[in-house]
Amino acid sequence: MNKKYFLQTIFLVTLTLIFSGCVSKEQSLTSALESITAEELSKDVEILSSDEFEGRAPASKGEEKTVNFLKEEFQKVGLKPGNGESFFQEVPMVEITADPAVRLEIKGDKKSTRFIYGDEFVACTLRVVEEVSLVDSEMIFVGYGIVAPEYDWNDYEGLDVRGKTVVILVNDPGFATEDPELFNGRAMTYYGRWTYKYEEAALQGAEGALIIHETEPAAYPWGVVKNGWTGPQFNLISEDNNLSRCAVEGWLHLETARRVFKSAGLNYDEIKTTAVKRDFTAIPLGLKASMSLKNRIRQQKSKNVIALLPGSERADEYIFYMAHWDHFGKDPTLEGDQIFNGALDNATGTVALIELAEAFKQLESPPLRSIVFLAVTAEEQGLLGSKYYATHPIYPPTKTVAAINMDALNIWGKMKDVTVIGYGNSELDHYVETAASEQGRRVRPDPKPERGSFYRSDHFSFAKEGIPALYTSGGVDHVEHGEEWGLAKRDKYIAENYHKPSDEFDPNWDFSGMIEDLRLLFKVGYMLSMESTFPNWEEGSEFKAKRDADMEAVRQKK
Ligand SMILES: [Zn+2]
Repeated sequence: MNKKYFLQTIFLVTLTLIFSGCVSKEQSLTSALESITAEELSKDVEILSSDEFEGRAPASKGEEKTVNFLKEEFQKVGLKPGNGESFFQEVPMVEITADPAVRLEIKGDKKSTRFIYGDEFVACTLRVVEEVSLVDSEMIFVGYGIVAPEYDWNDYEGLDVRGKTVVILVNDPGFATEDPELFNGRAMTYYGRWTYKYEEAALQGAEGALIIHETEPAAYPWGVVKNGWTGPQFNLISEDNNLSRCAVEGWLHLETARRVFKSAGLNYDEIKTTAVKRDFTAIPLGLKASMSLKNRIRQQKSKNVIALLPGSERADEYIFYMAHWDHFGKDPTLEGDQIFNGALDNATGTVALIELAEAFKQLESPPLRSIVFLAVTAEEQGLLGSKYYATHPIYPPTKTVAAINMDALNIWGKMKDVTVIGYGNSELDHYVETAASEQGRRVRPDPKPERGSFYRSDHFSFAKEGIPALYTSGGVDHVEHGEEWGLAKRDKYIAENYHKPSDEFDPNWDFSGMIEDLRLLFKVGYMLSMESTFPNWEEGSEFKAKRDADMEAVRQKK
């Protein structure tokens, strides 16, 4: 064989290999995307949201049915158990029900006032004990109750609140002033979330922490606080039985707060405006709070479901898809329909896990990195299942490339846009932009960032541990009917069906938009799975410091 001929042959063979490789890769990607269909999605959503599953409450018969259904589906798809030999991660929880006869008593120099549980305040304890009390605990107003070094902000500066009861404003100074230079302007930061306020109060050693409710900065009315905080409360149990938490955590109704401040000789509406300034100092109210909570305590066990598709080259690096399988179960005190079927919220996201798993299995060869499918419990009880996984990870967080969360998918048809909740937080947005432009769609930020949606679904549990997390929502600009129509459909769902027994499967749902969204999310995970990069949080994100520190610690060890 002469040299020239030899080289030509090599060239042609190589070209053929490259070309056929590309074609079959393209084909296998196409068949993966096409395997996501309306028939399969609707069939499984109908099953999971049927009355037989009893509203999928954690630690109920409905849970048993749900987690076994998911396990069987993941097995059928051909995934491996995600937790050693098991498809389950057990999540120990405690259910604490406070006696509703509790009263909050506030004493001043001259008189004392008693407030009624439910209408005037709510309170509970996360401590796993039969009874906790505040006894003449000094009350102190700490403004927004925020310690944020990156914003040069410390409401607890020079204070000793041990044994005291702190009274706190909801949201953050950026929201209150709409000053873009203050925190994140109108968009809520984590410092604005009530969960943060209690965590910080506990770190400071406060005995009690009471947040003043106001509808606009809280993003929901008192009724939501009242319903959510009365009745049985589920929580995770820490090793110290949550004794490091404040003894009492609660909310004051706005009118209650006004009365309390008045009895301290202060005007609440005036005083609160001083708290938006950096030089604000806490104000002792000269009042004493007393309360005694008697609890009924039950230990409960629930399950996260976890399945694995091992990668072909870097199997020790992981892309997560996640969705919460739980909903509110049944309420026997209701007239008529008592089952919270949670069809949209979140049978849709849960079923999407199965569909995405199937799509990845359609690929001719497995992705280079591993894909994990995680269906978490007790989201509706405060992101508990995801929080448990994130703080008891099965796969190393520094090897976890990204988490993609799905919660309540689009049932209204194709949209010209796709919403990224918390847009600008992480480099994952660029992957969404690429995948969206392939579909001829545009990416838009959350139209209502002041609601703090980024902090209100399961990806946040991962973000808090530094893992880059993505949460998209199906867009609103409908291909045929436009944006107003799309927004109206969403608002109608929130008003009529959200967290109500009427969130039921409807055979008239239009799955075409959901399919596009899932193909988009498939592409995002697929791109990540074929790379060796670790996308990070953007500069200025509150989660970046944790990620950088964790990754640096790994580099140091090497
Ligand atoms: Zn949900």
